[in-house]
Amino acid sequence: MSKEVELNKLKEECNNCQKCILGSTRTNIVFSDGNPNAKILLIGEAPGADEDATGTPFVGRAGKFLSKLIEESGLSRKDDFYICNTVKCRPPENRVPTDEEKALCENYLLSQIKTVNPKVIVLCGATSAKSFLGKKIKISEIRGKWFKIFDGIDAMVILHPSFLLRKHSEDEGSPRWLTKEDLKKIKEFIEQ
Ligand code: SF4
Repeated sequence: MSKEVELNKLKEECNNCQKCILGSTRTNIVFSDGNPNAKILLIGEAPGADEDATGTPFVGRAGKFLSKLIEESGLSRKDDFYICNTVKCRPPENRVPTDEEKALCENYLLSQIKTVNPKVIVLCGATSAKSFLGKKIKISEIRGKWFKIFDGIDAMVILHPSFLLRKHSEDEGSPRWLTKEDLKKIKEFIEQ
C-alpha cells in the first residue's frame, strides 16, 4: 500500500473518531499538511481556530509565520515537511490538550510517523516537546539540541511561531534568529 493510501485510510479513521471529548466540539479533523515523502516531520501542539475551520495544520497567523521562517531558512514547507499535531481535534478555547487526550490520540500520530518514516522529527513548541521529552524540560534550554525519540529517530525542538510573533527582534541571538539557525541545522542534517 502506498504512503498516500495508508495515510488517507488513517485520516478516514480520525474523521470518525470520538475517542476523546475533543471529537464532540471539532469542526474538522486536522490531520496533516505537506509531503508524505518528506524527510522532516513536524509535530505541533494542537489545532487552533483557523486550523479547525480549514482542516489544515499551521494555517493561521502563527502558521504563516512558520512558513516564512521555513522558506527563509532555505527549506520548502510543501516539499520538505510533513506537518501534524499531538492531537487531531481542536481543544476548546485553544487550551492545552490534556495528557488523556494526547494519549488517546497518540496511536494516530505514531502511525503517521511510521508511515512517513522521516529522517528527523521537529518538535514545535513547549507542549509538543514536553509530550515526548518529559514535563520537566525547559524549552529555552533544549531548543536547537538533538535528541533521539521513538525508535531512535533524530529530533530537534524549535520555538513555537506564536511565541516568535510576540518577539519582534531579528537581531543575532534573538528567538527569531535562533529559530532560523535551528531550521538551517535541520536543513544541513537532511542533506547529509
Ligand atoms: S483528538 Fe484524536 S482521539 Fe480525540 S476525538 Fe480527535 S482524533 Fe479522536
